[in-house]
Amino acid sequence: MQYRKNKNGDNWSVLGYGCMRFTKSGTSIDLDKAEQELMEAYRLGVNYYDTAYIYQGSEEALGKILEKNGIRDQICIATKLPHYLLKDRKKAEEMLQTQLKRLRTDYIDNYLMHMLTDVDTWKHLEENGVKDFLEEKKAEGVIRNIGFSFHGNTDAFLKILDAYDWDFCQIQYNYIDEISQAGRIGLEAAQKKGIPVIIMEPLRGGKLADVPEEAKRMIGDYANKLSHVPAADTSNQEEAMSSGTYTAAKMGLRWLYDQPGVTVVLSGMNSLEMVQENVKTAAESLPGCMSDDERALVEQVKAIIQKNTRVGCTGCRYCMPCPAGIDIPATFFSWNTLASEGKKTARAEYLRTSAMATNTVPPSKCVGCGKCEKICPQKLPIRTLLKEADHELRPFYLRAVEPLIKKLMRR
Ligand code: SF4
Ligand code: SF4
Repeated sequence: MQYRKNKNGDNWSVLGYGCMRFTKSGTSIDLDKAEQELMEAYRLGVNYYDTAYIYQGSEEALGKILEKNGIRDQICIATKLPHYLLKDRKKAEEMLQTQLKRLRTDYIDNYLMHMLTDVDTWKHLEENGVKDFLEEKKAEGVIRNIGFSFHGNTDAFLKILDAYDWDFCQIQYNYIDEISQAGRIGLEAAQKKGIPVIIMEPLRGGKLADVPEEAKRMIGDYANKLSHVPAADTSNQEEAMSSGTYTAAKMGLRWLYDQPGVTVVLSGMNSLEMVQENVKTAAESLPGCMSDDERALVEQVKAIIQKNTRVGCTGCRYCMPCPAGIDIPATFFSWNTLASEGKKTARAEYLRTSAMATNTVPPSKCVGCGKCEKICPQKLPIRTLLKEADHELRPFYLRAVEPLIKKLMRR
């Protein structure tokens, strides 16, 4: 495992564990499985663990695992304050105390303002005493580093970066988001200021690991080519292949590690194989690791993905629960399937997932409250998109027989 130093000189592993995507068993986290996977990552050198107040059950699960295995002081916990749920520092204090309790610790290494989107929000938090609160907690040692996670545009990111002496920041970054969100410009600006950058959504909620068939074939051809190049030409290629198969996920992670401004890449790992594979990739992929051919491959794959995508939903589920009972990310997932695999597969996918989730309703039941759009980090016009998705996924003849099909599927 490689490590990068933060502003205090502590080492953070270049691969971090995204605890938002712990495997669920029903509606709660499968704690035994999460423990096995997390401890495997720890044994292999991962020391950065990212969670948040609003990730259901995640802080509690992390706290239990760390306490049971006695590794709290060997790792860095990053968690986030949902500033959009608080009015003043009193509420901030309450939330922090809840987080310490859930995490079974008396300090938090990295404390982030969750999902800042513009500098005015930060200024508002300053006026409400939240900035002073954070600095006092830092002086007391309850918080070690103050940072923010970001979902907005590049200009807003640059303004936030300049608005405070941040210890670190966290951005959504991957080859699809190279010119959206904070983007490459934001990453390089943070690097120039010496602010460590934590990367979230490196594979866009798994979408870049499971690319369309055409892109898979292209990646397979590239892997075959790599395994046949003469030994003299293999400096970067050897790295790309040395941990086994060259995959879409590996390509996406290598694209990030290739860039020196990247400090930690978070991955929501929920299988032992995924942990082992990602650790190998992280250990081998140094800045500058990509060849020109590999960069060209990324561009080709990117073009295919963009052609095959209806909506840029990452599946983060921040918008859930919807008060009307719609499973918004599942609907968008099926809708994207329509672009990549055609109507038949997408409609079957929609029926299958909605048949299994008996407490969900079709997208046409949206009451337009707008709650989901206020929190969506991708700023998706969810209400409009749901109407379009509904139109394509549920043609009139399917609506008529939908209840019956679902009933049969459940059986
Ligand atoms: S706008 Fe529609 S989809 Fe969004 S939360 Fe409200 S009811 Fe649900
Ligand atoms: S619609 Fe937005 S908030 Fe909901 S899962 Fe998708 S990206 Fe996340």
